[in-house]
Amino acid sequence: DESEELFSIEESLKELAQLADTAGLMVVDSTYQKLSTPNPKTYIGSGKVAEIKTAINAYGVETVIFDDELSPGQLRNLEKAFGGNVRVCDRTALILDIFDQRAATREASLQVALAQMEYQLPRLTKMWTHLERQSGGKVKGMGEKQIEVDKRILRTQIGILRKDLESVRKHRKQYRTRRLSVPMPVVSLVGYTNAGKSTLLNQLTGADVLAEDRLFATLDPTTRRVQMKNGKEFLLTDTVGFIQKLPTTLVAAFRATLEEISESSLLVHVIDISHPLAEQQIDAVEKVLSELDASSIPKLMVWNKIDKANNPEELKLKAKDLEDTICISALEGSGLDEFCNAVQEKLKDSMVWVEALVP
Ligand code: GDP
Repeated sequence: DESEELFSIEESLKELAQLADTAGLMVVDSTYQKLSTPNPKTYIGSGKVAEIKTAINAYGVETVIFDDELSPGQLRNLEKAFGGNVRVCDRTALILDIFDQRAATREASLQVALAQMEYQLPRLTKMWTHLERQSGGKVKGMGEKQIEVDKRILRTQIGILRKDLESVRKHRKQYRTRRLSVPMPVVSLVGYTNAGKSTLLNQLTGADVLAEDRLFATLDPTTRRVQMKNGKEFLLTDTVGFIQKLPTTLVAAFRATLEEISESSLLVHVIDISHPLAEQQIDAVEKVLSELDASSIPKLMVWNKIDKANNPEELKLKAKDLEDTICISALEGSGLDEFCNAVQEKLKDSMVWVEALVP
């Protein structure tokens, strides 16, 4: 997997711990194992299972989270191995949980609910095999039947959700079309989660967008009007944060939201330059942008959190040598004039480009 080359196992686990923290869990320990292929039954080997079980007892662990997607069977076997009260989940389920907690608009809630149900569908078996065991195996097949009923209910619900989502989206599209009829350029903020997009949006517009030091503070696109010193205006949109190993179900779920990105005049890629993995995070974002066919949109690279970097002067010099790269501190409000000038310059280019296309 390409994304695994971007982040080392340790780095990915550290991020997983941060995600767990965002979900409100306290992380007590982490571990990994190198296998040539994952164990088809339990993902990890039996020795590792025993080792984790010891840790579960030592710490009184309630949840074990795996950094990769587990098959429904692996999930079941691991839960059995760890004992009744331990919840086993994977990165996908964790991210879905966080998204669920964070969804602020109806569209986001519907998207998350849909993704959760689609994730549950193949994993429904667990509850009912348990029930079968309780009945002492006398009513054999009862569990199977119940699974089918449950799957049917779930599929019906998924169908209803899809329809609701469609109508919400139609609404938003109408709004967007109306907005596009006003000749105001749209600038989209993109960037790895926690890079400082909401903070920048707030600084520029005084909008009270939720900004906090948590992963995924931003789930819904928020659009604000920004007026530049020369009186010209543009619309600034904050988009969902990107993260490595974003589960495919979620990328699909948020595709419609992300599609707005591909209709922007300019992308502002906000980077937490003080982060030790800044380069990997840039690559992860660029990868998603190319998947969205947004690679050809003009782009401004914003090195944010310059106040937090150990070598700010060096970075500023480096940025000067690079094209379309500027340093700011969204928190302290420094570099914002330069930022607005750069946006204006880039928009000028894109307007010329549009005029050339539309004679
Ligand atoms: P988003 O996920 O990209 O929208 O990121 P946020 O705007 O929510 O910011 C994430 C965290 O980084 C918050 O705790 C911000 O206060 C902090 N932050 C944002 N910009 C800066 C900055 O320029 N310097 C420092 N030191 N912290 C910042």
